[in-house]
Amino acid sequence: MTAHRLLVALVAGLMAGALHAAPARIESIRVAEYDSKTRVVLELDQARSHKLQVLDNQPRVVVDLYSTRMDAALPQRGTGIVRRMRHGRHPGDMLRVVFDLQTAATATSFGVAADKEGRGHRIVIDIHPGAIGQEAVADEIAAPANRDVLIAVDAGHGGRDPGAIGRGGLQEKTVVLAIARRLARQIDREPGMSSMLTRDGDYFIKLRDRYTLAQQRNADLFVSVHADAVRNRRVRGSSVYVLSEKGSSDEARRLARRENASDMVGGIEMDGLPPTVATMIIDLSQNASIGASLEVGDDVLQRLHGVGRVRKSRVQSAPFAVLKAHDVPSILVETAYISNPQDERLLNSGSYQEKLAQAILAGIRAYFYRNPQRGTLIAQRVEAGEIPDQEYVAVRGDTLSGIAQRFNVPLAVLIRANNLPNDRLRVGQILKIPAG
Ligand SMILES: [Zn+2]
Repeated sequence: MTAHRLLVALVAGLMAGALHAAPARIESIRVAEYDSKTRVVLELDQARSHKLQVLDNQPRVVVDLYSTRMDAALPQRGTGIVRRMRHGRHPGDMLRVVFDLQTAATATSFGVAADKEGRGHRIVIDIHPGAIGQEAVADEIAAPANRDVLIAVDAGHGGRDPGAIGRGGLQEKTVVLAIARRLARQIDREPGMSSMLTRDGDYFIKLRDRYTLAQQRNADLFVSVHADAVRNRRVRGSSVYVLSEKGSSDEARRLARRENASDMVGGIEMDGLPPTVATMIIDLSQNASIGASLEVGDDVLQRLHGVGRVRKSRVQSAPFAVLKAHDVPSILVETAYISNPQDERLLNSGSYQEKLAQAILAGIRAYFYRNPQRGTLIAQRVEAGEIPDQEYVAVRGDTLSGIAQRFNVPLAVLIRANNLPNDRLRVGQILKIPAG
């Protein structure tokens, strides 16, 4: 199994999800100016999920609709903050509608179901002038019914804390930022998902501040990206950790101690405590999200099998300070070991970084489609049957019946969906898990 095939499987899975239903049609577009905002209403003949993006270089609002056609005439003149409108088709039957703006803005959107007065399904987009990040504006707006799930992507270390350093000189802080940025970009391209980076440059940020940032924005998941070193240079591959009361191994505890001690670099102490004490202060009452963390961690680990070696086939637990994000499911991904020369070389390669990011995203996607959060676009898509097929990479010890059970799919359906001649599996084999 090559990583290229994994990519094809992912793309095919997404397209299959989008192509289930007949295309919807946008039948009219209305734009109106209000005191504090410009409102755009897209009227459709059937419900469709959409993805909203606000871009501030050449300020514009971009709305992507899956399996949708444009049948309405675009207004020729601008209204309010909207200077011009245009649209284009993208692969997978996706329609992109772009609103070029007079100035930078924030925007929110929500869907409205068809009503008895004969109005069709609507997507309402409110555009408020003002730079992105104007909290005052954002706070006044109620959470839309089809919000994106927000994934906080945390590149470990940074600035005066280089993290682990490979024999070839590669620094963990540099490589994990590259992977985190790729992951964030991929998440933003994904329907129903948005990302935030806890750091987007080479600077130092305290562990506590990393998850405070995620909590402030109500992130649905916190993913910390690392590439650590161990003394044994032969050790390589990926591992995934979640927070626990006790580390599952001495090594996990040692690793946690080192990551936690990162706040000590440059003389800043975590909560003014020595690192050993700080590490021990684990808030055991905040463990509600551990089950979710384990589940999403397992999904991510399964997909990492498709990229390269996996060091430990089970999710590990360790008392990482950075994973102590109250109520936000959190995982720490050790993408590879920078102390291993082959891993160091791979980590430095853009295509390998991209594959790691793809695998992490595939795991996150699987988790959120299996556990759709109420009020999110993903929940709406699940309800509408717009579920991308999932893929699963077989690992040692897997059986087809075990996989069928795990994904709640009848064994016969699984065999048919994959055109399998028998129920034999080989390690690394990609299975399509049919949706619904
Ligand atoms: Zn690290």
